[in-house]
Amino acid sequence: MRAVDIIIKKREKEELTGEEIKFFVDSLTRGDTPDYQVAAWAMAVFLNGMTPRETTDLTLAMAHSGEILDLSDVVDIAVDKHSTGGVGDKTTFVVLPVVSSCGLPVGKMSGRGLGFSGGTLDKIESIPGYRVDLNTAEFKHQLKEIGIVLTGQSMDLAPADGMLYALRDVTGTVDSIPLIASSIMSKKIAAGAQAVLLDVKVGMGAFMENLNDARTLSKLMVDIGNQAGRKVVALLSDMNQPLGAAVGNSLELIEAIDTLHGVGPVDFREHCLFVSAQMLVLGKRASDLESGRRMAAAAITSGIAFEKFRALVSAQSGDVSFVDKPQKFPKAKFIETIKAERDGYLSRINARVIGEAALALGAGRARKNDPVDHVVGFVVHQKVGDRVVQDQPIITIYANDERKLAVSRLDVLAAFGWSDQPVQSLPLFYS
Ligand code: URA
Repeated sequence: MRAVDIIIKKREKEELTGEEIKFFVDSLTRGDTPDYQVAAWAMAVFLNGMTPRETTDLTLAMAHSGEILDLSDVVDIAVDKHSTGGVGDKTTFVVLPVVSSCGLPVGKMSGRGLGFSGGTLDKIESIPGYRVDLNTAEFKHQLKEIGIVLTGQSMDLAPADGMLYALRDVTGTVDSIPLIASSIMSKKIAAGAQAVLLDVKVGMGAFMENLNDARTLSKLMVDIGNQAGRKVVALLSDMNQPLGAAVGNSLELIEAIDTLHGVGPVDFREHCLFVSAQMLVLGKRASDLESGRRMAAAAITSGIAFEKFRALVSAQSGDVSFVDKPQKFPKAKFIETIKAERDGYLSRINARVIGEAALALGAGRARKNDPVDHVVGFVVHQKVGDRVVQDQPIITIYANDERKLAVSRLDVLAAFGWSDQPVQSLPLFYS
């Protein structure tokens, strides 16, 4: 078998056999298939799709490209969570400490930025010293000791996805249903969770722009998980406007810390409480969503969720003084607030435009190994449906380069739509 024949077969819209998929994945994992062939194959899949059977085979081949974790000697039930990626999505930093402080241990492997969406690892690395390279033994030890882990994908777990993910980010092959489903579910299967909560984003700032595609992706992931013996719940959440207010690495982390102190944006807090409640039910710590939500809210009010976040940062060698005093995070050189030029109701805050503008400021990558700028990004001061008066702040830009600031000013203004008539606010979740 040769990689080039498998690329050609997919280019010709033919269905790959399980054997061919396994050969391709094993060969890319060993480093025998060069990046240009993997990228060509990913583009063929992007353009021509995969059947559910091919997608399941791809998921299992990627899950088995490394070790499959067994957490049963460390926790009674392992519940994992994963978002399909959005703009301003910092949910993990709140939900993990909340559910862990409610007695449900969570160990999560997160990724870096993908396309215009931010990456959890890039965000948490804003904290000096924070390690995202725990090995399996460290992962299990920390999960047992403090009930919370947030690290990167170790080379031992689904390494094929790690390689493919970094290439997809820079080759225009991110928003493909089979590639997203296999990427997410291979990691979840390898990470050993018995139950998985999926937060499938839908809207302008998501890889799935409409509800039909989001439902197809959800169903595919739930089916793959069930076939692998995992319990999977998929939520559909809105990503037409950024989640919360902050977009950008350290800005989002600061907003998550605020939320753990009970003072974050209302929409983001509500989103986190709902996701936490779902996880507490999946992990059998709450009997229903209502009591799960109450437990989650109490964990924030009492401060135990914040303490758990501190414990996480400390266990992973991060400088906890940044968590205690977020004003210590370095500031961008240029901070400029744009004000409304008119009165009216906000009818649109296009999350994709804001996400792409954040990338252009340096918050994400243009090439595989580019560094990210942790301090740049935006704080959006309004939500869709808000009534705004002239000169009210609508967005603050954090930039480190004057030229990029000028471009950003124009870019972000295009994200906002106005109406003279009242506009409905956007829902947090769809059914
Ligand atoms: N998150 C992932 O882990 N993979 C994707 O492809 C998209 C979001």
